[in-house]
Amino acid sequence: MAGWRASILTLYPDMFPGPLGASLSGRALEKGLWDCETVNIRDFATDKHRTVDDTPAGGGAGMVLRADVLGKAIDSTADAEDTRPRLMMSPRGKPLTQRRVRDLVSGLGVVIVCGRFEGVDQRVIDGRNLEEISIGDYILSGGEVAAIALLDACIRLIPGVMGAKASGEDESFEHGLLEYPHYTRPADWEGASIPDVLTSGDHGAVARWRRDQAIQLTRERRPDLLSDDDAPDKGP
Ligand code: SAH
Repeated sequence: MAGWRASILTLYPDMFPGPLGASLSGRALEKGLWDCETVNIRDFATDKHRTVDDTPAGGGAGMVLRADVLGKAIDSTADAEDTRPRLMMSPRGKPLTQRRVRDLVSGLGVVIVCGRFEGVDQRVIDGRNLEEISIGDYILSGGEVAAIALLDACIRLIPGVMGAKASGEDESFEHGLLEYPHYTRPADWEGASIPDVLTSGDHGAVARWRRDQAIQLTRERRPDLLSDDDAPDKGP
């Protein structure tokens, strides 16, 4: 079976696989569990200077990625039969959630447009059905780092990538809660000990303690998760 396939449209193909070539995702790439194709948007420029951007219609600062150049770049990698979602990294997009990540992993892969400059011509977003996705309320210099964050979140969930399956299901957000605190040896560190319940051997008590801690942390740090209808499964 072919692996999960990511096609990335960028002006900086050298940025991929980047950190995704190391560790868990790097080994998965070598094993063929996923595949990373880059398309250099600049290869689709038509003038002798290989121009990809131009000044914004209506004036203002910065430059805008041209619809004609980007449109051709997208068509070169994703034809009409390609059913993979077409994403564009954008601070204006819907914030990425663990639920959306799971949804993306269950498909064949993704096509990702990495913006640069002030952004891209709206006509290519509309004409090529690009779904804008944000990784948070701050501005990056380009979509590449955002694409790497999204891909990393997806790749670790591809079947066979993570060792113990359970480690994907007990994380922050998976049950609509932040994760409980962790401890390991030594039993005493700088005068601080491990909560007794965790070394009691009582699995039921451990589970209850963890759930209480998770609820308390979520209430303190992210009360929005407790009321958010769009949050992942809140569990029992
Ligand atoms: N002028 C734009 C920001 C452009 S930043 C605005 O105000 O909305 C340049 C590119 O970086 C964007 O096109 C996008 O691809 C990427 N980018 C910046 N911040 C991002 C974020 N928080 N999430 C996803 N992509 C982002």
